[in-house]
Formats: sequence, structure tokens, C-alpha cells
Amino acid sequence: MRLVVVGGGISGLAAAHRAVEVARERSVPLELTLVEARERLGGTIATERADGFLVESGPDSFLSEKPWALALCRRLGLEDRLVRTDDRFRKTYVWFRGRLHALPDGFQLLAPTRFAPFVGSSLFSWSGKARMALDLVLPRGVADDESLGAFVRRRLGREALERVAQPLVAGIYTADPDDLSLAATMPRFLEAERRGRSVILALWRASRQAPQPGTSGARWSLFVTLRNGMEELTAELAARLPAGAVVLKQRASGVERHGTGWRVATFEGGRFDADAVILATEAHATARTLRYVDPALATLLGDIPYASAATVSLGWRREDVPHALDGFGFVVPRIEGRALLAATFSSVKYPGRAPEGRVLVRAFLGGALNAAVLEEEDAALAARARAELAAAIGVTAEPLLTRVSRWPASMPQYRVGHLARVETLERRLEALPGLALAGAAYRGVGIADCVRSGEAAAERLLAGSG
Ligand SMILES: Cc1cc2nc3c(=O)[nH]c(=O)nc-3n(C[C@H](O)[C@H](O)[C@H](O)COP(=O)(O)OP(=O)(O)OC[C@H]3O[C@@H](n4cnc5c(N)ncnc54)[C@H](O)[C@@H]3O)c2cc1C
Repeated sequence: MRLVVVGGGISGLAAAHRAVEVARERSVPLELTLVEARERLGGTIATERADGFLVESGPDSFLSEKPWALALCRRLGLEDRLVRTDDRFRKTYVWFRGRLHALPDGFQLLAPTRFAPFVGSSLFSWSGKARMALDLVLPRGVADDESLGAFVRRRLGREALERVAQPLVAGIYTADPDDLSLAATMPRFLEAERRGRSVILALWRASRQAPQPGTSGARWSLFVTLRNGMEELTAELAARLPAGAVVLKQRASGVERHGTGWRVATFEGGRFDADAVILATEAHATARTLRYVDPALATLLGDIPYASAATVSLGWRREDVPHALDGFGFVVPRIEGRALLAATFSSVKYPGRAPEGRVLVRAFLGGALNAAVLEEEDAALAARARAELAAAIGVTAEPLLTRVSRWPASMPQYRVGHLARVETLERRLEALPGLALAGAAYRGVGIADCVRSGEAAAERLLAGSG
């Protein structure tokens, strides 16, 4: 089988690697080509070592709760390279009214599950706490899908939304919670309400039943990474592909039918004929590639909005940072009017991110709610990150290291109705046998979801062969 994968981010790499695995299992001859527009593989995954610091420009970890990335690491022999978070510091702060407040222990994204830390928290007013408690008696909602903002406001009130849900969600999706689909992003909360009515009670029950990742019994923390950074994963995947399979610096311009199969053309003049094609690019890029094959499909894809973001990594001497850095970082509610979405204390969260006596902090800026900040030059962005961190953690010293990374139109936004759109997309694809889509745009933006989507695409296309 001749298979072309377009896009060499984690989704495309996972697809290509799974195709190699399945072809080997079934003794199917596979002629594989992976076409990537940039000069490097990995997409948004990019790790750099500089002056003893290990800087993640994009994702710094993946979720262990969703099994696909962890399972892939095991198959790649990377299990002993995995590192867990340092759970002594498993605390997140919220920057509210000019100071950092610890998120109460047991707070699960939207709602509290432990009484005492919640009641004692300085993050919420008494009326805000009472409003959250109303969730215990409120009736169920009726919508199939609604915005995350509407859901939290309805069940837990405005404070829960503005002070916790919005900034935590912005740190993941960089999105406006009033646009974000609850069903597509956090179905467990929708499910919790459907099954148990009260979100707080449902989360509390679940937290009593299952051992929490990151607690003493669990093997892995909620987030894990690799000793030498996330690029270890993409490098290992690339190393498992057949020699000559990867074609860099060629941007797919279009896909067209060719005989009984497909032809992928590139702007650089490349022509790749295939029995099957996996398009693992951002939805806006996939839309352009498919515009002549199925214009309606291309429109559906092109209508998935994307946000841009930037990370600014800053290294300091430990003694230059007054804050205790006794957490994984902090998030910033929109109502604070800051450019910063969140900051990670990278060298506290994971070992080996900074040399002895140094610390690495990463600022996250931009997103759907603050796109204008990305029009600034790198130096201005770095200065802005430094000013925000000076206000939050008191660091004013000249950094030893500064790295700015931009991710334009890289973060898909799952708007209300997203899942219905994806289902329509999938139905239209059925009329295009031999063609599959993979990537962060469809059923999950995290690395684990991307691995699943790439692997599922490869399995589907190879299902009939052998
Ligand atoms: C700053 C940031 C931090 C993040 N943090 C985390 C995190 O900590 N944990 C987590 O799980 N997730 C995180 N995410 C999300 C996650 O990293 C991404 O959703 C995931 O890496 C997307 O992978 P992908 O392969 O689908 O897409 P991409 O990584 O975007 O890859 C798409 C690839 O397709 C290529 N391409 C595009 N058009 C063409 C074309 N026409 N022809 C050929 N190639 C083309 C691109 O060059 C790119 O390499 C983060 C994302 C960002 C931006």
C-alpha cells in the first residue's frame, strides 16, 4: 500500500508510525511518505537546550489519564524516559486582585470537591462560595451542548467562572469560555450533571472512588513528560519510520483523485501518488488542500476557528526570584486585564529543566481573548512577560535566558456545536474512500488525543489490507 501522510506534528507522526506497525503485523508491503512543510518535524512540539536550561516552546507535558500517549511511549521503549511532576509542589495559584491565591485543594477545574480547603479559600467571597454550593440543589439543564461559560454560570455562579474556570480553561484552550463547547472540551462535567445532577457531588463521589493520578498510589502523575523534553517523543517516532519516508520543506497544495487512488501535490512541485492519504495538518490547512475534492467539506474545515499564542521562557538565578515558587505556576483571570494567560514554574514542575541554583519560568500569552498582544515584536513580548512576572512573583533581575516562541493559528477552538460539525465532516469523508483526517482540530487538542486520532486514521485506512 502506498500511504502519504501530510503534516509531521504529533498527529501525523503517530499516524505514520501506527501504519508501519500495522503493516508489519499484517505483512502488508507499505510504501510510506510523510510530507511536512517546515524544515523540522514535531509541529507545535519543540524542545531546545540552551545554557543548561531545557526549554519547551510548545507543549511541556501530556495527560496520563488518557491512555494513548502513554501507551505509545511504552511501545517506543520510552517508558523509563518518562518523568512525573514533582507532586510536593502540586499547587496552582490564581492571580487575583494583585496577588497569588492558591487554588483550594481538591478543586477540579470547575468545582470544589473538598469542603474545608474550599471554605477557607481567600480566592472567593462568602457570597461566591454560597452561590457555588447552590449547585447541590439546582435542577439539571436541558441543552445537548452549551458553552462552558453558560454551564459554569448556571451551576456554580459568576465567581467560579471568572476566578477559576475561565483562567484554567484559557490556559488549555486559550479560548473564551462563552464560545467553547462544553460537550467537546469537558464532557465529564456535562455527564456529571446528567447522571448526578449536582456537579460538586458527582466530582466528589468520583474523587472518592478512583485513586487520583499524582497521589501516592498512582504510578504516574496527572501530567508526564520526557526526561529530555517532549521532542524525545517526536524524535523517536521519526526514527521508527522507514529510511527516506520523511520529506521536509514541501507544503501540500492540493489533493486530487488519481486513478483509483489519490495524488498529493506540493507548492514546491512535488507529486506523491498514493492509495491512501492522511491529512494531519491544521483544519485551515486541510481545508485548502481539499478545496477541489470536496468544497463543502473544505468549508466545514475552514470554519473551525484557530487562536494564536506565544510562550516566553525566562531563566533566572534562584536567589533573584523572591516568590517561594511552591507550585506548578499560576493562571490569570481575564477580569484582571493582564496580557498574561498563565505562567508555569517549569523547573519546579519537572526535574532537569534548569541547572542547579537556577529556575525556569514560562509565560503564556495571547489566545482568543488577547490576540492583539501577538502583534508585538519579540523583544516587546519578552518585556511584557517580564513586567507581568515582576508584578506576580516579584522578579526584577535581568534574566540569564530569554526565549520567545510564537504559535500563529495553532490552537483550534471548539465552539458550541463542534461535535456535530465533526460528525458531519466524518460523514462526508465516507464518500472519499482512502482519505482520512487526523489532528487537534477534531476530537481533542491534547497530545494524547492527537496520538489517538493519528493512530485511528492509520488503522482505518489499513483495515482492509493484508
Ligand atoms: C504553546 C502550546 C502549548 C501546548 N501545551 C500542551 C500541553 O502541555 N499538553 C498537551 O497535551 N497539549 C498541549 N498543546 C496542544 C498540542 O501541543 C497540540 O494540539 C498538538 O501538538 C497538535 O498536534 P498536530 O500534529 O495535530 O498539529 P501540529 O503540531 O500543528 O502539526 C501540524 C503540522 O502540519 C504541518 N503542515 C501544515 N500545513 C501543511 C501543508 N500544507 N503541507 C505539509 N505540512 C503542513 C505543520 O507545519 C505542522 O508541522 C499546546 C499547544 C501549544 C501551541
